[in-house]
Amino acid sequence: MVARSVCVFCGARSGAQAIFEEEATEVGRMIAGNGWRLVYGAGDVGLMGATARAAQEAGGKTFGVIPEHLMAAEIGKKDLSELIVTATMHERKELMFKNSNAIIVQPGGAGTLDEFFEVLTWRQLGLHDKPIFLLNTEDFWQPLIQMLGHLIAEGFAETSLLDYVQVVGSVKELSVELRKALA
Ligand code: AMP
Repeated sequence: MVARSVCVFCGARSGAQAIFEEEATEVGRMIAGNGWRLVYGAGDVGLMGATARAAQEAGGKTFGVIPEHLMAAEIGKKDLSELIVTATMHERKELMFKNSNAIIVQPGGAGTLDEFFEVLTWRQLGLHDKPIFLLNTEDFWQPLIQMLGHLIAEGFAETSLLDYVQVVGSVKELSVELRKALA
């Protein structure tokens, strides 16, 4: 039987502050330590690579999905428990989503935001009820949280939009909340 699986969206870069990579490593360890499988974009770069290496080193199962055209640029990680190479970005996102029970969004760039907004909008439309966690390292996501509030205040979203996102301040808190969500 496949273990409960946690999908991680995060930067293909490491970001400007060392703490982003430190926390990404903690996230990988935490997922493996709880006996869950890591689902992610299969790259060995930036925060993605840090999370995956840490999960592997802690003995966790890893499931990566990467489109063929990014195998070189994102250094597709061939030693994962399972590596799926897709033709398109859309297939990648779909497979990551379908094979997960919960989603963690760590700091990242435009790709991370794209992935976040897709699962958020699907949740808003009632297409799934998988929990979505924003790991708010160093208040990284504060501008995004403010933007979601702005959408609500200006009448473009229901107040429930913010209920679909759980903001956590540390990996420890994330672990506690994930255990409740996946119980
Ligand atoms: P970034 O946050 O920009 O570093 O990207 C994080 C991950 O998202 C990388 O693996 C990117 O390949 C991926 N990504 C970038 N653009 C998209 C997109 N439009 N849809 C899905 N994933 C994307």
